[in-house]
Amino acid sequence: MKVAVSGFKGKMGHEVVKTVLREKDMELVAVLDKKPDEKNINELVEFNQLDVPVYRELTDLIKEKKPECVVDFTEPSVAYSHAKTIIEAGVRAVIGTTGFKPEQIEELSALSSQKKIGSLIAPNFAVGAVLMMQFAEKAAKYFPNVEIIELHHDNKLDAPSGTAIKTAEMMAKAREAINQGAKEEQETIQGARGAEYEGMRIHSVRLPGLVAHQEVIFGAEGQGLTLRHDSYDRLSFMSGVALAIRETANYETLVYGLENIL
Ligand code: NAP
Repeated sequence: MKVAVSGFKGKMGHEVVKTVLREKDMELVAVLDKKPDEKNINELVEFNQLDVPVYRELTDLIKEKKPECVVDFTEPSVAYSHAKTIIEAGVRAVIGTTGFKPEQIEELSALSSQKKIGSLIAPNFAVGAVLMMQFAEKAAKYFPNVEIIELHHDNKLDAPSGTAIKTAEMMAKAREAINQGAKEEQETIQGARGAEYEGMRIHSVRLPGLVAHQEVIFGAEGQGLTLRHDSYDRLSFMSGVALAIRETANYETLVYGLENIL
């Protein structure tokens, strides 16, 4: 399976490159970077000892190297146009970059179906995080009062995290819609109660030393329930990425969320 990696120099892209090189049924045909230069190529050779071409233009990469799947871990500002270019070219897109708007996912989904191309956008590729979201969805039916605290490294560009939004979306389907907290509640410092999604509050913590962590805290009369997942290392995402590269070959549409292919 011919695979290309977009954003290969980044923290996640770097791990994906190593994963693709490790998997026996995958071949790394090219990588994409927005400013490829001699230094980038040397960096790549340094960690994999291979002569893999570095492209700046995604369209050139696809035309010349003909990947079957492009994995993208870049930035929220470019991931949508990357996904569109990949799917429009009839290539499978596996997108880990977060920050997609619901209407962008809908648009890409329609494009994938039209092109009959399997693709996946997953805010979290860690199987443990996916299980946490599923458990949260189940618990929200019985514990409608819930708050999400997501914690990430301080270089993260989007807030709240894609995982937190996806968790809230899943819980919103399962729980009755309620507004939480006191009716007369007032923030003496703006933002103190966090972001609001259908009555649920989401709090984003950004600190050096963290990777990706989330707590979903439920409260009810006389009891509480806390679900927590920790990604201590970016390796935690890689089995999910490898699964997505393989599994999207069996789909003719876009799948949103790793849980839908597990
Ligand atoms: P990062 O270390 O900042 O890496 C992003 C990389 O993308 C950088 O190397 C950057 O290059 C490159 N890039 C930016 N614009 C580009 C473009 N137009 N073309 C090609 N490459 C481009 O970030 P990260 O920690 O790896 O995270 C990347 C994304 O994945 C974020 O959105 C993050 O939230 C998400 N993420 C998802 C999961 C998941 O499981 N789905 C897990 C962790 C992180 P420069 O350095 O030259 O700017």
